[in-house]
Amino acid sequence: MAIERTFSIIKPDATARNLTGAVNAIIEKAGLKIVAQKRILMTRAQAETFYAVHKARPFFGELVDFMISGPVVVQVLEGEGAILKYRDVMGATDPSKAADGTIRKAHAKSIGENSVHGSDATETAAIEIAQFFAGNEIVG
Ligand code: ADP
Ligand code: MG
Repeated sequence: MAIERTFSIIKPDATARNLTGAVNAIIEKAGLKIVAQKRILMTRAQAETFYAVHKARPFFGELVDFMISGPVVVQVLEGEGAILKYRDVMGATDPSKAADGTIRKAHAKSIGENSVHGSDATETAAIEIAQFFAGNEIVG
């Protein structure tokens, strides 16, 4: 399998509980390498652009409000099959359905406040990485 890069966000519910290191430990234990990382406060415009695909969903307003409610840690993760691997490491969107050992099973509070984001496909990974990182900020 090819070496890929995926985009990750440690969401405000996790940063609020000081879980950045705990999440990163799970990521690294799974064999994914954090090749870029920064802690930011997203603007409303950034969050709306990032989640534009969900604009018509009933939870969109709540999701944007949540994503700008506190600091997030945006990351680029690299590894073999990184996109699907990170989706596995994250666990299901709804933490009550997430498998043991996943980030969301261990840490998520609810289907909305679910601790992490990970890209779902090659194309979205590239778009999401480019929204937050310049090429020279990613060092593999
Ligand atoms: P994932 O983050 O697993 O890819 P989605 O892309 O379906 O999940 O949804 C994006 C984010 O929107 C979720 O991670 C979660 O924060 C929020 N969300 C999804 N479904 C709901 C819901 N039913 N109620 C509230 N928030 C939701
Ligand atoms: Mg998604």
